[in-house]
Amino acid sequence: MTPSSAVTAGDLPLVTPPAASARDPRPGLSGLSTGQLAAWLEDRGEAGYRARQIADALWRHGASDPAQMRTLPGSLRSQLSASFRINTLAETAVRPADAGLTEKALHRLDDGRLIESVLMRYPARRESRERATVCISSQAGCAVGCPFCATGELGFERDLDAAEIVDQVRFWSRRLADDGNRVTNVVFMGMGEPLLNLDAVVEAAQALSDPQRFGLGARHITISTSGVTPGIERLASMRPQWTMAVSLHSARPALRDVLVPLNRRYPLQGVVAAAAAYARATGRRITYEHIMIAGINDTPTDADELARLLRGHLAHVNLIPMNRVAHTPWQPSPVERLEIFAGRLRGAGISTTIRRNRGIEIGAACGQLAAERSESPPPATVARRREILETRSAEALQSARSPGSLVPSGPPAP
Ligand code: SAH
Ligand code: SF4
Repeated sequence: MTPSSAVTAGDLPLVTPPAASARDPRPGLSGLSTGQLAAWLEDRGEAGYRARQIADALWRHGASDPAQMRTLPGSLRSQLSASFRINTLAETAVRPADAGLTEKALHRLDDGRLIESVLMRYPARRESRERATVCISSQAGCAVGCPFCATGELGFERDLDAAEIVDQVRFWSRRLADDGNRVTNVVFMGMGEPLLNLDAVVEAAQALSDPQRFGLGARHITISTSGVTPGIERLASMRPQWTMAVSLHSARPALRDVLVPLNRRYPLQGVVAAAAAYARATGRRITYEHIMIAGINDTPTDADELARLLRGHLAHVNLIPMNRVAHTPWQPSPVERLEIFAGRLRGAGISTTIRRNRGIEIGAACGQLAAERSESPPPATVARRREILETRSAEALQSARSPGSLVPSGPPAP
C-alpha cells in the first residue's frame, strides 16, 4: 500500500480560492470502465492480463502515481501517464476533529477548484463492527441553494467527473490502509447535488460497487438528493442496490419551497412518489433526511405532517441537528425538540433516528469548509440575506400553518 500524499491544512489557501485555470486534457484513469481500459490496452497491442494488473494497482493498492504501478513495464507506465491522470486530486489538505474520529479533506482539482470529503470512523460496538464512512462531493458548489447550507451559499461551479468522485474514496482508502483499515461505507453527502450530475455519479457508484474495481457492497453506498424527481425515476429504472436518501426537511409545501428551493420545480409529492417507486423497484427502504431548525420546521405539527406524508411507505427518517451557518439567522433545534419530534414520528409507526453531528468544530457538515475558504460576503450583504430569509420563512410558516394548507390536496406533480 502506498503512503498517502496528504499535505497539512496550512499548505492550502483556505481563505481565498484560486482562480480556476485550464483543465488537464488527460482523463482520470479511475473513471474508465473495465471495457474501456481493455479497449485502450488492445489498441496498443498490450496483453489482456495488463488490465487486471492496472485494476489491482488502482483499486486494491490505491496507486496515485504511475511509479507505484510496479507490476507494469516502464513503457506501459509512460503510456498510461501520457494518456491519463492516475490521481485527479492535484493536492489535498486534511484536518482532524473529534479526537481523530473525524477528518476532513480539502482537495484541489486540476483547474484549481476546491472540493471536500470527510472520513468518519465509528468504533466497534456490541451490535456493530467498526465502520469507516467516507462522505464525498459530486459537484464543486451547488446550484440548489438551500439557505441553511454552506455549499448552497457558494453557488454552482462545475460538475465533477467520475474519476474525481471516486478518487476522493481512493484517497481515504489509502490513508486508512496505512493503519490496516478500510472504507466500509460511502455517502454522496458532500458538496453538490448528485442527481444533477447523474451520469458521472452512476459511473462512480458503479466503479465503487463493482467487485472487479473498488468492490464495496452496493448497499453500503448512499446517494443523497434534495429531490430531483426525474433523476430518482431514472435510478429506479436501473434497479440498483444503492441506498437512496432524500433531503425532505419539511412536509409543508410552502416551507419546503424556502428550505429546498428545488421544491418549486419538483414538488414534494412528486419526489416522494418517485422515491416510493425506487423503494418498490429495489426493495430498499428510503432514508428521509430532516434537518432540525429551531422554530422553523421542528414543531409537533411538522412531525405529524411528516408522519402523514410517509405513512405506509418503506421509509426511515433521519433527524439532523442543523449546523450553524453564518449567512442564516437560524439556530439548531434544542435536544428536547429533537426527542419530541422523534417520539411523535415513532408513535406514528415511522422508524426514526437522530444523527449525531460529527466534526462540528471543523465544519464537517455539508459544504462548511468550502464556505470558510471562500471570500466572506461583506457584513451588510449577510445582514440583508438574513433579513430576506427571515421574511420568507415567516411568510411560508404563516401560509403553511393556516388551516387546510398543510398538505397539497391536488394530484402529485408531474
Ligand atoms: N445535495 C444533496 C447531498 C449533499 S447535502 C442533498 O441535499 O441531499 C447532504 C446533507 O447535508 C443534506 O441532507 C443536507 O440537507 C445536509 N446539510 C446541509 N447543510 C447543513 C447544515 N448546515 N447542517 C446540517 N445538515 C446540513
Ligand atoms: Fe445543494 Fe444539498 Fe447543499 Fe441543498 S443541501 S445546497 S442540494 S448541497
